[in-house]
Amino acid sequence: MLLVLSGPGGAGKGTIAEVLVANDPDLALSRSWTTRPRRVDDAPDAYRFVGRDAFLAHRDAGGFLEWNEFLGELYGTPMPDDSGDLLLEIDVAGGRQVLDHRPDVLLVFVEAPDDEELRRRLLGRGEAPERTEARIVEAGRERAEAVAIGYETVVNDDLDRAVAVIAAMLAERRS
Ligand code: 5GP
Repeated sequence: MLLVLSGPGGAGKGTIAEVLVANDPDLALSRSWTTRPRRVDDAPDAYRFVGRDAFLAHRDAGGFLEWNEFLGELYGTPMPDDSGDLLLEIDVAGGRQVLDHRPDVLLVFVEAPDDEELRRRLLGRGEAPERTEARIVEAGRERAEAVAIGYETVVNDDLDRAVAVIAAMLAERRS
């Protein structure tokens, strides 16, 4: 069983993912590969950081379930083995590819309560004002695409509630 969490930066999907995995011994976090440089705020195991040649070689060998380019850098989900349920924190373009290969995937789009709150959260984590507005526009576009391909949407107005809603969706899929 695969669970995909998508949504704009600032919606809180990373925190939701952490809590879901911590509370569920049968759910593990997929670790993506990326060519982007490590950021200071990245956990050491946030990604497998690789060079472009290594990424492309792995892709050409069929090593990714899905991959995408974002702001000039490559991101990909390694092909899962079938040992357990996996949570993928990827964008909607990636979710669409996963759906093509694994129609039983649970797709969840996490969003902030409204644009004002999203703006507040983005600015609060140091995003520049003009980039913030661009991200809000992009979030609206991505949401429409997500809904069109069958994502469930979950508003992250309260962390515990959002986690409980997604855990219940997962339990229903597993049963
Ligand atoms: P960041 O560079 O901020 O960590 O991630 C940029 C974007 O890439 C985010 O929307 C994130 O969800 C997405 N992303 C991270 N890993 C993957 C992946 O393996 N595949 C795809 N398609 N997107 C990813």
